[in-house]
Amino acid sequence: MSASPVALTYEHVRAAPKVLLHDHLDGGLRPGTVIALAESGGYRRLPTTDPGELGAWFISAAGSGSLERYLQTFEHTVAVMQDRDALARVAAECAEDLATDGVVYAEVRFAPELHTERRLGLDEVVQAVLEGFRLGTDRAAAEGNRIRVTCLLTAMRHAARSREIAEVAVRYRDHGVVGFDIAGAEAGFPPTRHLDAFEYLRQQNAHFTIHAGEGFGLPSIWEALQWCGADRLGHGVRIVDDLSDAADGTVRLGRLAAYVRDKRIPLEMCPSSNVQTGAAGSLAEHPVGLLTRLRFRVTVNTDNRLMSGCSLTSELIDIARTFGYDWADLRWFTVNAMKSAFIGFDERLALINDVIKPRYAELIG
Ligand SMILES: [Zn+2]
Repeated sequence: MSASPVALTYEHVRAAPKVLLHDHLDGGLRPGTVIALAESGGYRRLPTTDPGELGAWFISAAGSGSLERYLQTFEHTVAVMQDRDALARVAAECAEDLATDGVVYAEVRFAPELHTERRLGLDEVVQAVLEGFRLGTDRAAAEGNRIRVTCLLTAMRHAARSREIAEVAVRYRDHGVVGFDIAGAEAGFPPTRHLDAFEYLRQQNAHFTIHAGEGFGLPSIWEALQWCGADRLGHGVRIVDDLSDAADGTVRLGRLAAYVRDKRIPLEMCPSSNVQTGAAGSLAEHPVGLLTRLRFRVTVNTDNRLMSGCSLTSELIDIARTFGYDWADLRWFTVNAMKSAFIGFDERLALINDVIKPRYAELIG
């Protein structure tokens, strides 16, 4: 293959079409918006009201190396997302920011139950966010950035509202909600606590992913797939625990790892976030390199753009520099993600054939 005429610079990667499957709405606010919403909502517990300082504070607080401490930073963002206007604003800005970053399709997730502390019900939360996505998508289009944003409804692992949230997800399936997710600290809260929600979703022919194998090991991944029936794995990095070195220098896959690869189960990998929470020691040690080499269905994601100070562009550039990826690899991650999206097959195919492949063909040269 001839060398690409286009350098893998930040601007070129930003301009290339990208697909994002794992991004949390309450982890992607602009620092200035957190401050503005805290002011208008009377929330006084922010560590600083300077946008630059606040952005830096989120990154360092989230980088303490523990998933539990990482999750505590969300107390601030969730606190300022408790009314209709705030939710719509955050969702609109999310759509605009992703579009500016060159994302052409995104599944953004949020937990409706976290936004009902004041007066909103679950349905109102979902309606406000969907309205925000519509607004942001329109504004982005006016700027010349085309994006489609859908959402996943998340239920919290430690709570007991998963069945109810799953029902909301199904209720809004034709209005922009394309799936369901379980998130929160893994230790002590296995996904099997939510079996009735998963059973309901399967009976409704609905899609779901589960945060599994992030800070916790293989049993969590096994439960998510074989007990709960997850379509995708949120993170899934610990699948590498089921890999071993064979005598001939190749990598041997255990039964679960082989199942995940054979069934093309998408791994929603979030490298920066994993380094921050300690799920990976460093980017160079992150399993995304090995799993990509072994051709698992790897997708690259942001998780929480505010807490990691990242974008999909920066994540892709970071792993490209670390592992030596080129445009063909970036196309592979992008097509993997598009194939794994929860929208219909015909819609996925149209984005792959009409938007993604033609542009990467130019970039690959
Ligand atoms: Zn996540």
